[in-house]
Amino acid sequence: MFTLTLLIMGIAPLLGLGAQQKRYTVLIDPAHGGNETGVLADKLREKDLTMNIALLIRQEAQKGTNFDIQLIRSTDRTITILERSKAVGELHPDCLLSIHVNAGFGKKAAGYELYFPGFRQTVAGGGDSTAILKDMEKNSYLNDSVRLAQHIQASLEMVFPRKGRGLRDAPNPLLDALTIPGLIVEVGFATHTEDRRNLTDEEIQKAVARALVRGLREYFHKAP
Ligand SMILES: [Zn+2]
Repeated sequence: MFTLTLLIMGIAPLLGLGAQQKRYTVLIDPAHGGNETGVLADKLREKDLTMNIALLIRQEAQKGTNFDIQLIRSTDRTITILERSKAVGELHPDCLLSIHVNAGFGKKAAGYELYFPGFRQTVAGGGDSTAILKDMEKNSYLNDSVRLAQHIQASLEMVFPRKGRGLRDAPNPLLDALTIPGLIVEVGFATHTEDRRNLTDEEIQKAVARALVRGLREYFHKAP
């Protein structure tokens, strides 16, 4: 088996097979759904907007990228955080984007925000090497999450110039349970008049979807 693998690896470049052959899987989590509407502001319902953007991402990615998009939900149904985490565990995708719409911090708050899982200290207990190794493994997902966030941010910046509110880490039950790179993308504020107008515009939704696909493509393209 080892020899065969070496042989294939050896001739792959000659056949033009290589990095472009690798296909990745991206899991998109359209946040909320069903009984859980998420943010409501004017005619905007978070659960509908996250669904629209997720479907547009899938459509956009079908135009020829090296990754497949899977959706945690493709209809308007209630899913708990635990079920979402389970879906991640079953599919074990290369990364996860959870799409949300922001609200609050006063009516002036506007723009998009990216959250990645928080870095954690090595668990207490000193000499437990298994725990330390597990931690190191976790930190590599975290580093990749930050790298993914940087690509997504650069890409969203083209749609919403100077509207980025930065990359943040925050405790979140879905992100904290991940063993893969993942982000929460808050695409804008439902409570801000201009953001709300933008986000309910189908052309802008498409532009957001295109930006997220572009960010993902860059992230995989530059994978170490
Ligand atoms: Zn939300």
